[in-house]
Amino acid sequence: MGVDWRELDIANPTQEHAMLREMVRSFVKEEVEPQALENDKNEKFNVDLFRKLGEYGLLGISVPEEYGGAGMDATAVAIVNEELSYSDPAFCLAYLAHAQLMVNNLAQNGSEEQKKRILPKVCSGEWIGCMAMSEPGYGTDVLGMQTNAVQRDDGQWLINGNKMWITNGVIDDKKTPADVVWLYASTGKDDSGRTQITTFLIENGMPGYSVGQKIYDKSGMRASNTAELVFDSCVVPAENVVGNPGESMLHMMRNLEIERIGLAAMALGIARRSLSAMNKYASEREAFGHQIRNFGQIQRHIGESWAEYRAIRAYVYDTAASTNLNSAGNRLDSDGVKLFATTAAKNIADRAIQVMGGYGYVGEYVVERLWRDSKLLEIGGGTLESHQKNITRDLVKNHSAIDK
Ligand SMILES: Cc1cc2nc3c(=O)[nH]c(=O)nc-3n(C[C@H](O)[C@H](O)[C@H](O)COP(=O)(O)OP(=O)(O)OC[C@H]3O[C@@H](n4cnc5c(N)ncnc54)[C@H](O)[C@@H]3O)c2cc1C
Repeated sequence: MGVDWRELDIANPTQEHAMLREMVRSFVKEEVEPQALENDKNEKFNVDLFRKLGEYGLLGISVPEEYGGAGMDATAVAIVNEELSYSDPAFCLAYLAHAQLMVNNLAQNGSEEQKKRILPKVCSGEWIGCMAMSEPGYGTDVLGMQTNAVQRDDGQWLINGNKMWITNGVIDDKKTPADVVWLYASTGKDDSGRTQITTFLIENGMPGYSVGQKIYDKSGMRASNTAELVFDSCVVPAENVVGNPGESMLHMMRNLEIERIGLAAMALGIARRSLSAMNKYASEREAFGHQIRNFGQIQRHIGESWAEYRAIRAYVYDTAASTNLNSAGNRLDSDGVKLFATTAAKNIADRAIQVMGGYGYVGEYVVERLWRDSKLLEIGGGTLESHQKNITRDLVKNHSAIDK
């Protein structure tokens, strides 16, 4: 006998998922929450706490167990991102850049040799990884990338170019680079003039790889590090190319789906925390002799936030349930959920500040930080406009998705 479908909680569909959520939630309460405010203020990435995520099996959440991972699915990825972001979205962004953008990508697309050599190190937290796609002059227009790689006669590759906005691209204030970079570079054009993209695994110590600058003074996500990376005649051995040269567009597309689900789940964590804060405050605070929750305008903030929070939750976990980490094919919803969840979360955080008045505007009360952090989710991993463009384009090819 199967489980009664009416009893299925889409956010905790199996006992394993529910246990994962419980474990991360208690870790967040005890270890993530107490450090969040201070590290936001000081723009400090908490490396020690990050490595602890490895001890809990979270850094390789979607990696098969034989390589040191937890072997879980897209729903598990969403759970971890939601729970971490309830307290510290910036810390979670560092987690997502490592565990989804770099580690999952390698687990899905790397060769056996690459996976055996690198995955155990990144799953344990011994190595910290990042993914470098964006450039100073090219973000949404990814095929315009200027970073290029040329294969020499001895088989090694020579890479030149700069990457920008790379989360975990630097580990500290001393410009220590990430241990491993999942780097996309152009390796020429195909017959129709389209840029061919190739993935390289860049390891710390390879000649010509360095940090250009650590980017300071971001509006939000301040407890995650962001850097410009420089590749100046960087020499990379042939065994560090992932897949066949020129064929990385598929890796990129496939991994963007889990990235977007992760970012939408981060928005969900922000939405839940903001709603919780405003709901409690509205009972505690009195004005004109009444709890402020008795005022109709406050009820509008709370009521709309509840409805939007529930809608984000349903869409995030519905999309995660139908996403297979091994294959592309869920772009419509991974774009859709990120488009909806990120702006909704930003609006909920904004309403939380409004309900909490002056207190909401102060760091100690958390929601102003969540509001600043939420803005990044409308930009990173694809801007709102790019999601609108992708969805509209996909609905031409796939009109039947609407009536399905
Ligand atoms: C804190 C932070 C962390 C990041 N982490 C990473 C990372 O780890 N790795 C990585 O590779 N990148 C990372 N990024 C980069 C991020 O993915 C890019 O900022 C994003 O893709 C947008 O690119 P851009 O900033 O170059 O803006 P642009 O692409 O130049 O866009 C500028 C504006 O033009 C709009 N626009 C562009 N093209 C179109 C179009 N065709 N139609 C309509 N509007 C359009 C955009 O939507 C936007 O509003 C990060 C960024 C930040 C701020």
